[in-house]
Amino acid sequence: MNTAELKQKFIDKYGDSSAEVRVFHAPGRVNLIGEHIDYNGGYVLPAALEFGTTLIIRERDDDQIRLASTNMPYEGQTSIRDFGQNKTEEWVDYPIGVLTELQKIGVVPTKGYDLLFHGEIPNGSGLSSSASLEVVTGYAFLSLENGPLDTVQLAVMSQKAENNYVGVNCGIMDQFAVANGAQDHAILLMCDTLEYKKVPFVTGSYKLVIGNTNKRRGLVDSAYNERRSQCEEALSILKQQRPELNYLAQLTPEQFEGLQGSIQDETVRRRAKHVVEENARVLASVDALSSNDLVQFGQLMNQSHDSLRDLYEVSCLELDVMVEEARQITGTLGARMTGAGFGGCTVSLVHEDSVDQFLKQVGTNYKERTGLEAAFYVCNVGDGVKELKGDN
Ligand code: ADP
Ligand code: MG
Repeated sequence: MNTAELKQKFIDKYGDSSAEVRVFHAPGRVNLIGEHIDYNGGYVLPAALEFGTTLIIRERDDDQIRLASTNMPYEGQTSIRDFGQNKTEEWVDYPIGVLTELQKIGVVPTKGYDLLFHGEIPNGSGLSSSASLEVVTGYAFLSLENGPLDTVQLAVMSQKAENNYVGVNCGIMDQFAVANGAQDHAILLMCDTLEYKKVPFVTGSYKLVIGNTNKRRGLVDSAYNERRSQCEEALSILKQQRPELNYLAQLTPEQFEGLQGSIQDETVRRRAKHVVEENARVLASVDALSSNDLVQFGQLMNQSHDSLRDLYEVSCLELDVMVEEARQITGTLGARMTGAGFGGCTVSLVHEDSVDQFLKQVGTNYKERTGLEAAFYVCNVGDGVKELKGDN
């Protein structure tokens, strides 16, 4: 649906008015490389996607805020004086949660508004529709109520909305990428310090193909906690020789090579090796992308997956099969799982001329080998949150 059609939908729903209709857009995101290293002081490298969540918004002449979505039947209404008092356990908790965070920095709606959201991101597929919904809401209210358009602060407030109001214990990466992404760029981010850099990522005739395994995730929380404690164990052993070490990802692979003998437990040693090497791969990816070497980047993607499968052991049959099939396609430069693992999505970098064959062959073979129907999204890298002017 283009902006003109969405505006018409908005008017059909809320009626005509002389007030200006404004349109905002926030993307979805994918993590390109850098998995399971954010909690080890390492870098992640997400990119914003071209599709996301659009918000049409217009002020009202009373004090009511009304919220609707083309994706959900539930509609919300609240007054500007007492929003956030009653959680609904509905999708409107995300935008209302953002309003409660904006309020903490003194940005409050001074009048009522009508809102209509339209999402192009499948929910719960790992492309972060929730962060997109939060960030577009925050950016729109900051714009309309003359708040600071600081997209780093906006990412933090959006994360807090999800943590504090919705009650989902997510990290900062998604909101950060959605708020700060840029066309033809990936974002190198240190999640603890929010140190970041925009890295050129010109895909040219290549596409990002995201494949949802549609595997129901089990075990994620317990496996995640186990990996974290294994990393802590490795760190405390290595600290005996290197007291200044605060995080595993501070080590280079060469340094780790020299130290790893002190870790007796082979599993713990393999976990630490993944962390150190994955962080080095992120930095090598930055070099590769900065010199537009997509072939090299594809190889790093492949190595990342193999390490997550063999050393960190957070992959699963479905992710491995999809990655294996993706790599069979001529024109695929690299393929890996993305996200925490045990299900969820893969990301592949595929030449545009091979995309049709990729969708057909990987889809068919994946179904044959796993019994599951995959879903694919062919994506370009897009901008972070912004206001859309014009009707396209
Ligand atoms: P994801 O991986 O897509 O972020 P989440 O479970 O974190 O999955 O968030 C999905 C939820 O976010 C949906 O169930 C819904 O409540 C809300 N949501 C996302 N996009 C929209 C939208 N366009 N309209 C209404 N609700 C949305
Ligand atoms: Mg989410």
